[in-house]
Amino acid sequence: MSELSYQKCINPDCAATFGISETLHCCPTCGALLDVEYEWSRLALPPRLSDFEKYWSQRSNPHRFSGVWRFHDLLPFVPLEQCVTIGEGQTLLQKADFVAPYAGMNNGRLFLQYEGLNPSGSFKDNGMSAAVTHGRTVGAKRAACASTGNTSASLAIYSAVTKLMQSVIFIGSGKIAYGKLSQALDYGAKTIQIDGDFDDAMARVQEVSKQLGIYLVNSINPFRLEGQKTIMFRVLEALRWESPDWIVVPGGNLGNSSSFGKAFIELHKLGLIKKVPRLAIINATGANTLYRLVEQENVTWNGGRYDKQRVNGFFAKMDSEGQRASTIASAIEINKPVNLTKCLRAIDFCKGVVRDVTEQEILDAKSQVGAGGLGCEPASAASLAGTRKLVNEGVIGRDERVVCVLTGHQLKDPNATVAYHGQDKEFFQKVLGSRGVTTAEFANRPITVPNDIEKIIEVLK
Ligand SMILES: *Cc1c(COP(=O)(O)O)cnc(C)c1O
Ligand SMILES: [Zn+2]
Repeated sequence: MSELSYQKCINPDCAATFGISETLHCCPTCGALLDVEYEWSRLALPPRLSDFEKYWSQRSNPHRFSGVWRFHDLLPFVPLEQCVTIGEGQTLLQKADFVAPYAGMNNGRLFLQYEGLNPSGSFKDNGMSAAVTHGRTVGAKRAACASTGNTSASLAIYSAVTKLMQSVIFIGSGKIAYGKLSQALDYGAKTIQIDGDFDDAMARVQEVSKQLGIYLVNSINPFRLEGQKTIMFRVLEALRWESPDWIVVPGGNLGNSSSFGKAFIELHKLGLIKKVPRLAIINATGANTLYRLVEQENVTWNGGRYDKQRVNGFFAKMDSEGQRASTIASAIEINKPVNLTKCLRAIDFCKGVVRDVTEQEILDAKSQVGAGGLGCEPASAASLAGTRKLVNEGVIGRDERVVCVLTGHQLKDPNATVAYHGQDKEFFQKVLGSRGVTTAEFANRPITVPNDIEKIIEVLK
């Protein structure tokens, strides 16, 4: 292989390789997922992670300003000049003493990685910059995704800003938060609403992309996951290149957890980190496929030879019993996570654990994040709720250093927030009560007063 980067099947019994310029959804030989791999020994890499700081002074160059492409040396699948950027990855790792007590942690030990600051308001932009970059190199004119909302918002904004390709998005009916849908519509994406849920949309978009030669940007796309590695690079950067003890992330299609695992596998192999953080992946109870497979069925990566029969049997049972994912955390409302196998690998390498949290726990945790001024959508708050659970169980120590990834912005799903804090009982019942949320312990209720100056002054005294 003379290429400096290539695609490789993750199944060790196949391990087929393919050129970078091929557009594949999975291995044509065996059907497993693909990785992007590099000939590291032939690439110029900084000897230490702190060497990346030399790029800080080059912020007038959009590629060095980008929180994704300033780490290009660690995802060099096309030359830097060809990489697509709209200013993604200007995110923040915030010490979160305001929620540390809620999580049961000691001050100074809990951090929130706020990915809501991305151009489209979610971490998806990290991956989209890389996927669109690859799409451009293969000459794609149209790009498509199935989406619970944020992937489509991200694709739509990249398409609108760069004009490189027209965006086509597939969404399930009634399954998308309005903040996200409004973005896709406003940015001009061709929006196909199908009668079904995310998994149905996912299956359809794969068929349609194949038939029409449309470039697919879901997280099954290995190039997208390369971009998402940089979330971890920025976490390390903010911690002055010291690994935390734990990374806690919500799990939906498991692209993030998979890509974090790959980032740590590579950094460790390259000698750029010594300590590998542990990974905690948090499902919603109503969409807890990973939790059940890993913690109850004991499915493990097993060197790539995971128990396929058990997984397929699990999915077959799910289908025959008509079990469908259902959670207010719509971004993680997924039945069959497409990156399951890569995620098993990440759990194996990072000594990961999986937990699930209830709708009530998610909403309460979300209000705690909001009260600290960061604000996130329900799915993101699963990371804090999961941390609280793991501290309670004694799995995470109160004094360990923990980074929760806040995956999406607060404004993505205003209904959930207003239902929680507001006084409209009917709205609460419709949005949250119907899902088993019974209380809003941390609600910041608006105060209703007659339009009368005396009465207004009365409540403000
Ligand atoms: C996509 C998304 C997730 C799920 O991430 P996966 O990589 O699919 O596991 C979680 N939170 C938000 C806000 C998202 O947009
Ligand atoms: Zn294969």
